[in-house]
Amino acid sequence: MKVYDITAPIYTGMPVYKNKPEKQPEINTNTNGHVTESRISMDVHTGTHVDAPLHMINDGDTIETIDMQQLVRPVKVLDLTSVEEKITKRDIENHDIQENDFLLFKTKNSRDTEFNFEFIYVAEDAAEYLKEKKIDGTGIDSLGIERAQDGHPTHRALMGSGIIIMEGLQLKDIEEGTYFMVAAPLKIQGTDASPARVILMDELIG
Ligand SMILES: [Zn+2]
Repeated sequence: MKVYDITAPIYTGMPVYKNKPEKQPEINTNTNGHVTESRISMDVHTGTHVDAPLHMINDGDTIETIDMQQLVRPVKVLDLTSVEEKITKRDIENHDIQENDFLLFKTKNSRDTEFNFEFIYVAEDAAEYLKEKKIDGTGIDSLGIERAQDGHPTHRALMGSGIIIMEGLQLKDIEEGTYFMVAAPLKIQGTDASPARVILMDELIG
């Protein structure tokens, strides 16, 4: 069985949303000569992460309430590397999308080595289509699932119907197909997201 790690490494100087300096993780390592301990301070939306509904919905659910059954499961990777600017309904409606699918969108973003202000995102009409299709979750290879849309309609359409959102995936080496995913956000109570280790396996389990 082949295991693919699709997680972004976390380090000071890593790509962060809009290159904002305050979003850089700070890692302080202390040692007394015998014992080494590090302390980390970072945004919960750093690198590869899972969003919780609270991120965009007042009083929405928080990250620790997401059922792990939804995050350890088969997923479909869709190759959308030919898409320019944004993923629209037209770009995905010819793909095999079924109720309860968990879809990972591989786009040109996976080739970026630094933050790209023009990253490919999921347009509102695609989000509405995914909602109609009643998928369970979706993930994308950018630090945001949308940009340039007033009121964040993509986040709202997906989160408002209980669709899980993952951002910051690294899908450069992943071909289109079905995989088994383990996505494990930290069990931080009460927050709107958490960094996650996300791996794909080329064999279905369970
Ligand atoms: Zn996020």
